[in-house]
Amino acid sequence: MYNARTRRGTVLGRTELLDRFPSLTDALLRAADRRFPVRMTRSWAGRILGEADGPLARQVLPTQAELDEDPGAVPDPVGEAQHRPLPYLVQKHDDRVLIQVTRRCHLYCRYCFRRDQHDTPEPDAAALDAALDHVRRSGAREAILSGGDPLTLSDRRLFAVIDRLRPEVPILRIHSRAPITAPQRVTPALVAGLRARAPVWMLVHCNHPDELSDEVREALARLKWMPACRFSTRRCCCAGSTTRWTCWSGSATRCWSCASSLITCTTPTRCRATRPSAWGLRRASPCTRPWPAG
Ligand code: SF4
Repeated sequence: MYNARTRRGTVLGRTELLDRFPSLTDALLRAADRRFPVRMTRSWAGRILGEADGPLARQVLPTQAELDEDPGAVPDPVGEAQHRPLPYLVQKHDDRVLIQVTRRCHLYCRYCFRRDQHDTPEPDAAALDAALDHVRRSGAREAILSGGDPLTLSDRRLFAVIDRLRPEVPILRIHSRAPITAPQRVTPALVAGLRARAPVWMLVHCNHPDELSDEVREALARLKWMPACRFSTRRCCCAGSTTRWTCWSGSATRCWSCASSLITCTTPTRCRATRPSAWGLRRASPCTRPWPAG
């Protein structure tokens, strides 16, 4: 069973971060953390081979650039504020609603396009009830459980959300980075609970092939056998780390071989933590890998 107790000790403390990454200063860490939490799981840290300039470290460690004024930065970069029928809901299409069931994540990606929302409170029971009731009455056929990361919820709370939406909302998608950032979260109890509530779609956000450790592959394999659990790679770009086409195709290929029954390559999201001028894609073509049957 995964709960707050089992989560404890799974992230690096401040001193550990400073010891592990000598180029990170305490002042930068504190200043960045005040704006958006700096948190790295031990699992993620174990996959970082070098210092702070590698593709995995760059996604999680702050840089001075994110503290500097950025004339190109905009609040709410994906335009969610104007599509909120209620707090914690985003509805851009009549038949599809996104529910932000939590603000929490196992680790915090510096490029997160919802980083400006982090100051808003965690949804309490009343707010979540109101959001779920609205979705059930709205006629939406599809609900996306998002956040934050929905898999930071306990199994009990996650399953309660799914059960509240059924049968009115037949298509449920969980958008998560947890199988990558905290693979221990994919417990047998979670898999069994999702299997019992199938069909549930899982979209797993992966940026770089180095994220796919053996531990992650095993977590993805545990989900692979769910009858209606599919995988997608979503890619973001952190300048200097994940902007190469080989990174993208490498992630897709390794996901493909270890776990995925379906790969969808999506448009890269812009990294708000870097300046536009630093956001240089070498190749922006979509993935041409054919979709597998089944
Ligand atoms: S896991 Fe997702 S929601 Fe959380 S910080 Fe990363 S991109 Fe943002």
